[in-house]
Amino acid sequence: MIMEILDGKKTAENIKTELALAVKKRKKSRMKIPHLAAVLVGNDGGSLTYVTSKVKTCEKIGFESSLIQYDDTVSEQTLLEKIKELNNDKNIDGFIVQLPLPDHIDESLIKSSIHPSKDVDGFHPENIGKMVLNLPGFLPATPAGIMELLKRNNVETEGKNCVVVGRSTIVGMPLSILLARNSNPGNCTVTLAHSRTKDLKTICLDADIIVAAIGKPEFITADMVKHGAVVVDVGTTRVPNPQRERGWSLKGDVHFEEVSKKCSFITPVPGGVGPMTIVSLMMNTLKALELKGL
Ligand code: NAP
Repeated sequence: MIMEILDGKKTAENIKTELALAVKKRKKSRMKIPHLAAVLVGNDGGSLTYVTSKVKTCEKIGFESSLIQYDDTVSEQTLLEKIKELNNDKNIDGFIVQLPLPDHIDESLIKSSIHPSKDVDGFHPENIGKMVLNLPGFLPATPAGIMELLKRNNVETEGKNCVVVGRSTIVGMPLSILLARNSNPGNCTVTLAHSRTKDLKTICLDADIIVAAIGKPEFITADMVKHGAVVVDVGTTRVPNPQRERGWSLKGDVHFEEVSKKCSFITPVPGGVGPMTIVSLMMNTLKALELKGL
């Protein structure tokens, strides 16, 4: 059996080239250029890295971008007022509020205050509802990115047993819905596992496709994976690494070294799901503009 790396970095580069071309065509036809805004609260290293790479990607493909930064003492009211302003700003096509937020800010309130037509992260209850009903709207960026990665790399999903480990509302839960849809990719028989799942090992061993979205480094080990399985690793945990100048490296939820030997396809960390999440956000921003007929 030949193992193939599901190269998110390369797939995302291809999508960036397509998006850059779409921007060029828009410029030529004097149409509006997509504009993504990102709101960042606090100084969390991970959040700063994610937001910076989103802004850089905008620059690379020719989108306009705005970064709005607050320190972590910002009040919920100030944030809600900024969201209202962005909702009404005709120049901004889509925006995100980078999560997580400090404890004194109600994340659900923030998510539902973003106008659904600008909610390019796909977290608003209206967009989640549309996803469940398979109606046009914005899909959450990470699950949409994984579906695009499977599609562009011709990973067969129809009729496969799939286990998604982790049921967060931003990754595991929506991905389980997308994989079960009557579509391609899709048509999987999906098990959504979580911390209360009994005998996860047996469930994983029965799976043709395993998606790990847990946040526990190297949690999925070779004894949990059957030969020929497709393994998608969403996890990104910073673990101490004194050999790196920055003092840490990113680890996925899958023990890559041992699991990759048994897989037909596997995503690396970094360079797998992460770059796909970012381009999904860009695709949603272009879509926001197109949905407005602009
Ligand atoms: P989250 O909100 O922290 O949820 C973790 C999920 O894992 C929960 O559903 C939890 O179950 C489940 N879980 C925890 N321990 C478990 C165990 N021992 N067995 C089975 N399930 C277990 O996670 P998230 O926000 O989805 O993030 C997951 C990981 O993906 C993190 O490392 C995050 O950094 C990463 N991530 C990466 C990207 C990307 O673009 N690459 C995007 C988003 C997230 P309960 O519900 O029962 O608590």
